[in-house]
Order: sequence, then structure tokens, then C-alpha cells
Amino acid sequence: MSSALPFRFTKIIATLGPATNSVEKIEELANLGINVCRMNFSHGDHAFHGQTIKNVKAVNKKGHSLALMLDTKGPEVRTGDVKEPLVITKGDLVTFTPRDLTGKEKSKTVKVNYDFFARDAKNARCIIIDNGSIEMTLVKIEKDTVIAKALDGGKIGSRRHVNLPGAYISLPSFTDKDWKDIKFGIDQNVDFFAPSFVRSGDDIRELKEFLKKHKCDAHIMAKIETPQAVTNIDDIITESDAIMVARGDLGSEVPFEDVPGIQDDIVRKCRKAGKPVLVATQMLESMILNPTPTRAEVTDIAYAAKSQADCTMLSGETANGMYPMKAVAAMDTVLRKCERIEPTYDLLIDASDDETKDIDLPRREQALSASVLATKLDADAIVVISKHGKTALAVSNCRPLVHIHAFTETEDSQRRLSLVWGVSAHCIKFSDNNPDKTIADAIARGKKEGFFKKGQRIVAVSDIRSADERVSTIQIRTIV
Ligand code: PEP
Repeated sequence: MSSALPFRFTKIIATLGPATNSVEKIEELANLGINVCRMNFSHGDHAFHGQTIKNVKAVNKKGHSLALMLDTKGPEVRTGDVKEPLVITKGDLVTFTPRDLTGKEKSKTVKVNYDFFARDAKNARCIIIDNGSIEMTLVKIEKDTVIAKALDGGKIGSRRHVNLPGAYISLPSFTDKDWKDIKFGIDQNVDFFAPSFVRSGDDIRELKEFLKKHKCDAHIMAKIETPQAVTNIDDIITESDAIMVARGDLGSEVPFEDVPGIQDDIVRKCRKAGKPVLVATQMLESMILNPTPTRAEVTDIAYAAKSQADCTMLSGETANGMYPMKAVAAMDTVLRKCERIEPTYDLLIDASDDETKDIDLPRREQALSASVLATKLDADAIVVISKHGKTALAVSNCRPLVHIHAFTETEDSQRRLSLVWGVSAHCIKFSDNNPDKTIADAIARGKKEGFFKKGQRIVAVSDIRSADERVSTIQIRTIV
């Protein structure tokens, strides 16, 4: 079905887990069009994720270019492991404790992974389990236990989220586990780190320092899921390479009706700053159990596409759902169908706004001119010669409805473009001091691989060095 639909601009991030982390399944996901593989370090150990990384790299050797994203656990509270989920009935009194369960507890009891849960719970408005599946009111806090009354019935399984809206979790933004996981990711050469529960630009600066110390130039995608991060969003955007609107925890930490406004605000700010932005969580939640999406989920994906976010994400749907391939196919189809609903000409103009930061003015103007030209000429593609991906990002930020083929010099830069809207990235050797030869080589590569065909019109953008000068060009070419 999808193949009859036009090219997809919005990228898809799929979380890999037991349902999908074999070579065969990853290849299937890659053929369905996922762009980035996310590993959620709230689950699994290094042996598990190491195997996943090995499998993704094996798939990439077969000609794919999937990027790897390490999503940290962060200072979050989760339930402990249980053999069977605890069944909760509305009105039940439930005890939360950091102590190990003996099985002889008198009331329904949930172990939490945080020693100071009772102390920090004092300021909480309520307790929210598993992104809102059960809400509880606080009844009593004594020493290290919290007793709460269930407002809803449901089940509490292993490692479920426990949110305390209104409370400040006094854990550091990066726990010892996070630093060990990040070091593991550096050693495995992952492309993106997605730190969880960041609160300020200082958190991002701390992570950048750590990466620099370890000579790692992976990119940082900050997850916005705390009220403090929403308050400090401008500084966080400035410091980060990309932003994730992590609506699961966000919708537990702030009233859920505030999430759409926050999402809009963050997407708009990232678009202005020229930073990739990802809308995440519960996009196809019902497909964890069902083979087709709800109409509300379809509309949610369409909304993210229409607001021109760079990517949408699948979490449990692909990590441990029953229909991971159908979920990716559904997301792909909805994006292709819906991302063209709104005309984008205004957005091209919007991108010329002087407030578009983080992309220098000549590069931004070059990108905008090429985008307008390609749109007016109804070009088949925009070719961008982009050593580290910056010019490709600038063109993408103009959101021309024209497929952008970026040519980078390293595979690392190629993979980092995998979450950038509208860009298919390729790696070629650049010709020293000869930008024209590099463009010719890029076109030759496209012809060889079949993504450029004779007679097609392209707009080529390049700003690579020739002798001691940076030479910026925009060319109109016809493939011969
Ligand atoms: C979220 O809370 O929306 C999110 C993406 O984070 P996690 O899946 O780690 O809870």
C-alpha cells in the first residue's frame, strides 16, 4: 500500500526490544522505512543492548543506514520486578516501599526503585502509574512508606513508571547508572544520546562535557518531560542538537490537557532554532494489542506531520507489542498521506525569519533560496553537499516539499541526518578543492543506485572549500 504513496518526509524512530531486536526483525523494520533505532535503558542490561547494537550494525552492513539512539533511564521512579502483575481494584489502599517484598505483606504493596520516595512524595499532588493507567491519591506517608488510595482499577507490572506530579525528585539528573550506560554507548559508537528527565541547560552542558572528555561527538536529543524542562526550554534547545517531546512522562508530570500546547510550543521553537524535533509516545499505543490504529491515533500522527516535526516515535508498539511491523507500516502510511495536507509556502517564508537561530545567516539564506527555487521549479530533488550535515539541516529547516539528498563525507554524519526531515543521506568521498567534481560524483552515485534518473531536474547546493575559500553555490542541473 505504502509504495503507491509519495515520498515520506517525516522520519520514524522505532524502539527495539524483545519483539524486534533480532537481525531479521531489524531488517524487516528497515525495509518498512524506520530511520533510527532507539534503545530504552530503563529496560535491559548491557549484554541485551550490546546484542541489539551488533544486530543493527549487521543490518547496516547490508546497505541500510540506521542510526542508534541510547535513551537513558534518568532519575525516574519505577516499580520493581514482579512475577505476576498486581491487580488493583478501585478504592484499594496500596503501599509503596523501597524495601524488598517478602510476599507476606498485609496490604497490596508495590516496590519502588527509589529510597527517598516517601520523603519526595510529600509535595506530590497524586501518584500516577504507567503513564496514567492508574491514578492514586496520597493517604498517609510514614517513614519510608507511602499509602495511597486507587482511583481506578488496573494492573501494576514490572518496571512501570511511577510519577509524583508536583514533587521534585531529588536524584541528580544523571545517576551512576546513566553515566555507566552513556560510557557504554560511547564505546559502542551510538549516534544519539537521549537523556531522560533533564531539567535545565546545565544538564545538557554536563553531558556535553562528558562526551567531549571521552572524545565522542555523538549528538544529544534532550527529552522534555519535566515541568522544569518546560520552564527552561529555550536554554535546553540552545544547548541540545535535537529535542524530544516525551509526552508519556510529561503528561503525568503536568496536567495532561497542557501537553498539546507544550508540544506546539516546543515544535515551533525548535523549527525557529533550526533544531530537529521529535514527537513521542502513545502514537499507536492501541497497536500494542490490536492490528489497526484508533482514529484518534491516526489524527495524532497526522497532527505531528502537519506541524512539520522532524520525526515521530514508536515505543512499546515496536519494543514488545504484538504488531510491531503493522505499527511501523501504519505510521509510515499516515505520515505519507497527511504531511502534504497543508501548503508549505508560508513555511518557506517563515524559515527566513531573522529569529531562526543556530544556523548562520549565509547558510540559512542559501538554504532558503535553494528551497524556494526547487519548489518553484517543481524539482525532483535537492542535492546538498554537506560535510558534517549542517547545510542539509539548514535546507531541511526550510521544509521544501522536495526530497533532499544529502552527501556527507563520513558515515557518522550520514547517520546523524537520519532524524532530519526530508533528508536521505549518503556518504561519498569529497574531491579536494573541486566542488564541481563532488557534485558530479554525487549525481553519478544517485544514478548508479537508481534514485536519480535521466531527465530529472535537481537543485544542487554546495559550500565546500575550493583552495582557501569557502565557495557557496546553487545550481540547476538536469540529469543526463
Ligand atoms: C516518554 O516519557 O514519553 C518517553 C519517551 O520516555 P520513556 O519511554 O523512557 O518513558
